[in-house]
Amino acid sequence: MTLYTIDDLDHIDTDHAVRIADRVWWVGHHQDDDVFQCHVYLIEQGEQSVLLDPGSALTFRHTLRKIEEIVPFSHIRYFVCHHADPDIIGAMPLIDQMIDRNDAVLVTHSRSQVLIKHHGLRLPFWLVDDHRWKLLLEDRCLEFVFTPYAHFPGAICTFDPVSRALFSSDIFGGLTPEFSLVAQDEQYFEAMRPFHEHYMPSRDVLGHALRAIERYPIRIIAPQHGSIIPEHLVGFMLNKLKTLECGLYLIARGDTNVQRLADLNQILRDITQTMLIYRDFGDIATSLLGIARRVLPVKSLEFYARIDDQRALHLAPESRYRGIEVELPAALARILELDYAQWRELDVAKMAELLMTGNAANTAIFPLPLPLFSPHQGTTQAIAILHLTDPVVPSDELQQILEQIGTPLQVAVEREVVYRQLDLERQRTYEQLIRDPLTGLFTRVYMQESVQRLCDLQDRDSGNRVAVLMLDIDHFKRINDTYGHNQGDAVLQRVGTEILSSIRGSDIPVRLGGEEFVIFLVSETVTNVILFAERLRARVAAIRFETLMIDRSVTVSVGVAIRHAKETLLELIHRADGALYNAKNGGRDRVCIAPEFAAQPRSA
Ligand code: GH3
Ligand code: MG
Ligand code: MG
Repeated sequence: MTLYTIDDLDHIDTDHAVRIADRVWWVGHHQDDDVFQCHVYLIEQGEQSVLLDPGSALTFRHTLRKIEEIVPFSHIRYFVCHHADPDIIGAMPLIDQMIDRNDAVLVTHSRSQVLIKHHGLRLPFWLVDDHRWKLLLEDRCLEFVFTPYAHFPGAICTFDPVSRALFSSDIFGGLTPEFSLVAQDEQYFEAMRPFHEHYMPSRDVLGHALRAIERYPIRIIAPQHGSIIPEHLVGFMLNKLKTLECGLYLIARGDTNVQRLADLNQILRDITQTMLIYRDFGDIATSLLGIARRVLPVKSLEFYARIDDQRALHLAPESRYRGIEVELPAALARILELDYAQWRELDVAKMAELLMTGNAANTAIFPLPLPLFSPHQGTTQAIAILHLTDPVVPSDELQQILEQIGTPLQVAVEREVVYRQLDLERQRTYEQLIRDPLTGLFTRVYMQESVQRLCDLQDRDSGNRVAVLMLDIDHFKRINDTYGHNQGDAVLQRVGTEILSSIRGSDIPVRLGGEEFVIFLVSETVTNVILFAERLRARVAAIRFETLMIDRSVTVSVGVAIRHAKETLLELIHRADGALYNAKNGGRDRVCIAPEFAAQPRSA
């Protein structure tokens, strides 16, 4: 009987055990018409020998024969199962019947045990996670490497520090139409590629396993299927595997075009990345536009998000994707509010036509609508419109790409609408705080803040002189008493309107309380301020309250103060109040200037 070693590449006879390292043997079997080869390995340790991944029930008789070429079967004490797939543990029930020693154990991880136990084996379990991930043998101590979810939750690999062989289970496995026990060259990666791309759930999961593996000084990789990787190819295969995209079956839908799936997968990663990196919707939209351009001739991208029955938020490049409230376009109103079933049935081509008719002027651009379904609301709440420079033929591939882009877009748009609504809410609350609801003039709260800014401005640049007018309606109490509170309110409102229509945008009109108003003016000459006060007094006096009162008119008294540098707001108002007092005392219906600038109260 000739026994072969892995160095005899040209002469290897796989009908016999093949020595792959000192006391380490391949005892698997090559089945015709099977791209998955079950490799079984034996570590010869006298009566403490180890069998790794016993393999399929279909091939076990061959494996048994090869084992017996090295050691009697009864010398095997440890049966290592790297995970619970049938091509690894299928032979265990047969083995279980054959074992005739009390100390034999099935070595595996606790997560695999919960499945393997259902075979009802007599063989007891020896769990790596209960034994510090090490198994001490005659001349070596095996180390187990946890590689979870690299296709099985309890998946492990085994490293033998003496031979420096990594028994890698499914990792590094290939789909090899032409059987080759040992990988000949770098080409073996192409056999590994489809298996890893399709069977490994994600690059992150595989990456985790690879990082765990590469801590060991590996000289040879002995996978459970595919080909054994010799020393000179170990580094190459490890590094190549790190760059591989995985989990393609998740988006495959029966498609086996690996390149196309790899491209799709890359798009998916880039979209996820975009959503992680950017907060600003403008940045998200710009990045997603770039991604969409890899597969579609997209010129620009815009969005409509529903606010209510009439209004939508429009996010477009013109406004740098800042949401602007618009009337909901009629063509879109039909697309929004669709439920899940209706949304699934939407025909992209039909929708595009619909939009085209609403956009007949611009035939050089082809709008491709992408309704965004909100799982949270249960309806389509937004729509993205991709403007294409060429029409595209709807296809499954296009549909799939649109769906991949759709989910993150939906999240981003929904987030933007929520932000926008919060903004509006904040604005409303603020408006309530700063606007007097009866007259529409500002409140004291607003005055304090904004007039202080005007005062600061004046202190930096004396050209920006601040002046204040304080108005009080004459004998207002009488109006209330004679005609009732409602009529009084109507008078207040009307005087408020008169003030608003008399001032400039830069002026600050305030209802101080009751029937008292103040108006702040900036950069006016003293003469202009006095002229303005006089004009306003006259305009109020000229108002005819035809339906309101028998008197038909009201008058106001006005106190004017011009701020001097460093004067506080309180001091300024106090001086204006003094001038108002003088106006009242002088007979009402007149303007008085605070003393510092005019010695004599002026009469109207
Ligand atoms: P004078 O010419 O000296 O200013 O006399 P007056 O009656 O206008 O002054 P007074 O301060 O004695 O009276 C102001 C009245 O304004 C008293 C108060 O009931 C009334 N008032 C204050 N706020 C409101 C309001 O919001 N609506 C109405 N209708 N009346 C108000
Ligand atoms: Mg009054
Ligand atoms: Mg008063």
